[in-house]
Amino acid sequence: MIGFLDSLLVTVRTALRRPVTAQYPDPSKRQPVAEGFMGFPALTWDEDVREPYCTGCMVCVRDCPTQCMSAVMDDNPKHAEGASRRRKIVREFEINLGRCILCGICVDVCNFDAIEMSHEHELSKYERNGNRVDLTRLLEMGRAYQRETGWGPSQPKKNSGVPVEKPAGEREKSAGGAAGR
Ligand code: SF4
Ligand code: SF4
Repeated sequence: MIGFLDSLLVTVRTALRRPVTAQYPDPSKRQPVAEGFMGFPALTWDEDVREPYCTGCMVCVRDCPTQCMSAVMDDNPKHAEGASRRRKIVREFEINLGRCILCGICVDVCNFDAIEMSHEHELSKYERNGNRVDLTRLLEMGRAYQRETGWGPSQPKKNSGVPVEKPAGEREKSAGGAAGR
């Protein structure tokens, strides 16, 4: 009898507790993903100079085990104007997210803090290649991730695009050198 009452109590307690599941896919009832969650890769944005961190160097493209990425590099016009430290900048970037295995190798090998595993994970499509995403979309995903997590580069001094002010002595020297030429 006591055993029966015990189990009845467990049943009543379970029936009355608050639900622990979410009503997917209702957007207002979704659970936030964990901070360290690894969703699809996305490109980061350097707000200080208003351009991507990515230089299009191709290191991630060469190391991607599923060869689902491609990138094209360009001379950076902002560097020529003195507005950015990045001599080169990405012109085109594409990832076929349908083939990405979310391994994170692209993030590990990037020397420029330019790519991160975002929190984006809901990209189901009906077409086989419906998840080929371009530079614009990858930057949108990256900016959403940066806003959500307060992301900052792991090597800000090295990877910031903000031009470095030369010390006064050096500035005069290079100006003198230029005048003498
Ligand atoms: S994401 Fe990084 S490794 Fe890949 S092309 Fe851009 S700068 Fe190079
Ligand atoms: S996470 Fe892995 S498979 Fe996906 S793009 Fe990066 S290196 Fe390629």
